[in-house]
Amino acid sequence: MELRIGVIGIGAMGRDHVDRINNRVNGASVTAISDINREEGLKYGAEIGAEFISNAEDLIASDEIDGVVITSWDPTHEEYVLEAIKNNKYVFCEKPLSVDSAGCMNIVNAEVEKGERLVQVGFMRRFDRGYEDIKKELDKGQLGEPLLLHCTHRNAEVDSKYDTPMAVENTAVHEVDALRWLLQEDFVQAEVILPKKQTTNTHANLHDPQFMLLQTESGVCIDLEVFVNCKFGYDINCKVVCENGEIGLTNPTYYSIKTENKDYKRVPSDWKERFIEAYDKEFQLWVDGIKQESITGPSAWDGYMASVTTTALSLARDTGEKTTINFEEMPSLYKQEQFV
Ligand code: NAP
Repeated sequence: MELRIGVIGIGAMGRDHVDRINNRVNGASVTAISDINREEGLKYGAEIGAEFISNAEDLIASDEIDGVVITSWDPTHEEYVLEAIKNNKYVFCEKPLSVDSAGCMNIVNAEVEKGERLVQVGFMRRFDRGYEDIKKELDKGQLGEPLLLHCTHRNAEVDSKYDTPMAVENTAVHEVDALRWLLQEDFVQAEVILPKKQTTNTHANLHDPQFMLLQTESGVCIDLEVFVNCKFGYDINCKVVCENGEIGLTNPTYYSIKTENKDYKRVPSDWKERFIEAYDKEFQLWVDGIKQESITGPSAWDGYMASVTTTALSLARDTGEKTTINFEEMPSLYKQEQFV
């Protein structure tokens, strides 16, 4: 059976997901879209052969939709996810699940009340081959206990809309989820250092680079450099220092170029290039999960834990202080699946 998917928000990410659902994911196609911009929505709907439904709530409630993808502005996510849960609809929500932890908790509570998982959150790093392989090695235990992590998240450049808070909320949030999943434990302390020395390539509203520190419940220490005007490409690194060795991501390229006395490998230009396979895999898992009536990808609880952590990082940045990360107790609905 081909699942009928409705997509709310057809900007850059929405269109990217439409393309993957229609062309690279098995078992589903996009049959309806909704967007605040009616003219664009009608035009794009005609282009891809999907019905344009101007009211997102009508799309969610439609009997002709089996699953909903939310790729609209961040502040709309919570409302649409709650609406999907109310209508017993499986929903894939791009990060963030909500703009704050209280909003994420509203979603967790709604799902718990339903008694089943309907929500998958768009944390695609868990589906990246490099992170998957690191997790497998750590789980084997031969490297011993992880002690320290050194991570970088670098973009070639960002536009003038990208400001200082976005380094935590839009950028570091991916490490926050992926590292919690890799280590299989929660974070308890956050700190952010804004170096005095900044790149001259930044603008007035953006402190760049930033240096973030996290500590887990067992005491693993993580440093994360977020540098979003590094100029040379999209460069994601993660090195885990363990008792008996070290394991880290390599730059996933399939070729190197030798020319003019140089031997070099390509650095991806952006997140779409770097994580294309991971995005495809996260959607295949979601579609398969709907068919089996069992959603196993990143959960609403993972969305909540990412939110409490980024909130603590933001507070730490604003106060210049180490900040304790507080969170609620995990409901039993999520227990058997935690860190899958
Ligand atoms: P975008 O290009 O601005 O697209 C958002 C779209 O939603 C626009 O078409 C916007 O319309 C529409 N929209 C806004 N409010 C709406 C509403 N109430 N109902 C329906 N449609 C509405 O942004 P984007 O880059 O695609 O990002 C979309 C989401 O994906 C964001 O939540 C972002 O955080 C997330 N994201 C995730 C990743 C990842 O790696 N997982 C990467 C990038 C983005 P207008 O054009 O008229 O404003």
